[in-house]
Amino acid sequence: MPLPRDPTTAHEQITVNSLLNPASPAATPEPRVKISILGGGIVGLCLALALESLSVPFTLYESAARFSEIGARIMIGWNALRCLEEMGVGEEYVRLARRSWGEALRDGRKGGSEGGSWKGEVFFQYRFGGTQRGEPFCTLKMPGGQLNTHRAELLDLLLSHLPQERVRFRKQLVRFDQLEHGVRLEFADVTQEDADVLLAADGIRSTAAGTGSYAYRALVPSHLVRAAVGEEIWAMPTMWLEHSRHVVHYPVSGGRYLNVVVFKSDFTKGRTPVWDKPEWVEHDVDERELLRDYEGCGPQVRAILELVKRPSRWAMFDLPDWPYFVEGNVALLGDAAHAMTPHMGNGASQGIEDVHLLAHLLSHPNLTKSTVSAALNAYELVRKHRVQRVKELSYDTGRPWELSAPGVGDDTREFERVARETMDWVWRVDIGKQVQRAVTWFELSLE
Ligand SMILES: Cc1cc2nc3c(=O)[nH]c(=O)nc-3n(C[C@H](O)[C@H](O)[C@H](O)COP(=O)(O)OP(=O)(O)OC[C@H]3O[C@@H](n4cnc5c(N)ncnc54)[C@H](O)[C@@H]3O)c2cc1C
Repeated sequence: MPLPRDPTTAHEQITVNSLLNPASPAATPEPRVKISILGGGIVGLCLALALESLSVPFTLYESAARFSEIGARIMIGWNALRCLEEMGVGEEYVRLARRSWGEALRDGRKGGSEGGSWKGEVFFQYRFGGTQRGEPFCTLKMPGGQLNTHRAELLDLLLSHLPQERVRFRKQLVRFDQLEHGVRLEFADVTQEDADVLLAADGIRSTAAGTGSYAYRALVPSHLVRAAVGEEIWAMPTMWLEHSRHVVHYPVSGGRYLNVVVFKSDFTKGRTPVWDKPEWVEHDVDERELLRDYEGCGPQVRAILELVKRPSRWAMFDLPDWPYFVEGNVALLGDAAHAMTPHMGNGASQGIEDVHLLAHLLSHPNLTKSTVSAALNAYELVRKHRVQRVKELSYDTGRPWELSAPGVGDDTREFERVARETMDWVWRVDIGKQVQRAVTWFELSLE
């Protein structure tokens, strides 16, 4: 039976293949620990998939009537790609991401200022957006390159590997109570469930703080971009940097469109809520507002922005540092624990790192109803420091991207050093070591 995903949220034409795996009762072991996952966003679904791949039973509760993601792109960092590989969907994800480049990948390999050698490994090429010529001054590579997909495609990929009998829709958690060795869940439909552990991937909530930044997002037909700024700029994932604003673009949908994200910041207000609108995403914004925000930009940026029609506008939020992610038998993960600004494109990827670690702990042979809280503590011990550091770096990274980082400014050498060191630290984490540390800590705490 097809799993309901909301097709109305997709902005691009994509194939919906949301078929959950049919039930396979023979493969379902008796649960040692009753695991509840809250939230069916990317992180909740990844956790479900990781547990499924380790034959660990769970129930996932989602408040909506179906799974849906906002119609926008998402890129997966090298750090999270290795976690997806362990879950068995890494190759499929890379195939999906490469397909969205279409012709642009081939042309990017042929041409470009790297003498035809970028081999699809470019994360971004950086140019100054306010200047006449805007020549590239730095090219950052990531193993696998710029791997992004439509969010709905990623959702479909995850769903195609999940058994439907484990998912409960229209289950909005309104309250939970800690029991001696477990949790009681209360839902808006006035039902109750008891679980041994609650893994809350229910996303960012009202406690989020504004960051003084927002971003316009739009898809522009590729043929118009190629005519306006040429093949090389169209085919290359590019960031145009200026003071307090930057533009990001790369081809998507098999190369038919250019995905354009246009950031505008105000660093003078600090991390205080400055967004006074009821929704954090506005649709169909008048493109003249975007052009007003970009008065005085260079000719290439201007040429691209003039092609943007009716963009959406997203407020940039992040969360304060929580003192803990775990209380008793309840753990937060994904955006619920550490929502961050998107300047490194690694928010969901950090959630996937959380998932990787939790899945290893929850499949540990010593996991029982009475040891599960020790397993969650091991998760917090290993993840909290790293992910809160990534959250800070993500906020800080908005500054070099907008030529406003203290000690960096528009010094191209220093920019390259800072960008490389920051991104390498995020991408090249030893995920095996994170697991090893958490498992060791868990085992020691049982002695
Ligand atoms: C502009 C922008 C660009 C970004 N780009 C990237 C990128 O390129 N790469 C990247 O890695 N990250 C990116 N991110 C971050 C990424 O989008 C998030 O980190 C990720 O989507 C969070 O997923 P999640 O599953 O934790 O939360 P969510 O996607 O918010 O999912 C939460 C789910 O929980 C459900 N829920 C909520 N409350 C309840 C309840 N009480 N009961 C039951 N269910 C409930 C919701 O319905 C929802 O389905 C970006 C973010 C922004 C804003």
